[in-house]
Amino acid sequence: MAAIREHAPAGRVLLICHVNPDGDALGSMLGFGLGLRRMGVSQVQATFPGEFEVPEPFVALPGMDLLVPEPQAYPDPDLVIVFDVAAESRLGGLVDRLAPAKAAVVLDHHASNTGFGGINLVDAEAAATSVVAEELLSRLGVPLDAGIAECLYVALATDTGSFKFDMTTPRVHEMAARLIATGIRPGDISRRIFDTRPFGAMKLFAEVLARAALDPTAAGGHGMVWTHVTQADLERHGQRPYVMDALIDPVRTVAEADVAVLVKQLGEAEWAVSLRSKGAVDVSAVAVAMGGGGHRLAAGFTGYGTPGDVVVAVREKLDQFLI
Ligand code: 5GP
Ligand code: MN
Repeated sequence: MAAIREHAPAGRVLLICHVNPDGDALGSMLGFGLGLRRMGVSQVQATFPGEFEVPEPFVALPGMDLLVPEPQAYPDPDLVIVFDVAAESRLGGLVDRLAPAKAAVVLDHHASNTGFGGINLVDAEAAATSVVAEELLSRLGVPLDAGIAECLYVALATDTGSFKFDMTTPRVHEMAARLIATGIRPGDISRRIFDTRPFGAMKLFAEVLARAALDPTAAGGHGMVWTHVTQADLERHGQRPYVMDALIDPVRTVAEADVAVLVKQLGEAEWAVSLRSKGAVDVSAVAVAMGGGGHRLAAGFTGYGTPGDVVVAVREKLDQFLI
């Protein structure tokens, strides 16, 4: 907090969230950025590594004007604040902004956080990074307004799966109550971020779900269900990469499997792998062993080869961690 009070008011502040940003990454970052503005900080930029594409559900978030593409981000910020990033690898090329800064503060909620920041505000009990962000704004004396609240709400709703996951504690609902009290409309927000997608995305989902496979004997008999989605699938249906992320939700409903795996094509033989567990298996252990990270019930990593290769590797790691 002292670092923010000392360097933010007069300096250049760069906010960074993880590659392929989700609702918590963007929401906590933009919500905090709007809060800094309310404190009177005039030089604030927000960015994330890689292609400058904001997933459609998040393009209407308040504070979007804070966002700049990676190449335009301050090369030598005075203060860097990082959101929802468990490891430096998730910062891509932006990792070089940390060293020149007078302070690098990390706000996160991953138990697997490596502690790469100078100041690490990591609360593994928090349901979302936006919980950490709201607490810090409150300690800085920044009152919530509807813009800040909408960003933090989107983040909270995303990471709790619409307030359905295990970490939906009283603390989560108390925070949601504070956010909703600013006048934001949860129904409109949920429809926009969870329940709206193009017709082509629905057709794509149908194909990807039709190719899902189930092995109830995998993961020590807890069962595993998996499917994959390729760039060609996206092109055939005219869809952007972000639509792939929502596919894990129908896959993880399968009753016969504790573990759900979605393999999403990034490049020729490169795949973003999403892992989910209903509780019998710690998928973050598998993800960390594969070079990724995440939480016990939701984790991910980058895999290589064919989708079949990736699935075999996950199965082997699952067996290893069951013993
Ligand atoms: P998702 O499957 O929704 O992309 O990610 C689920 C969780 O795993 C998130 O908390 C995310 O931060 C983490 N995660 C996903 N992919 C990676 C990865 O490649 N590396 C790390 N360190 N964490 C990941
Ligand atoms: Mn998060």
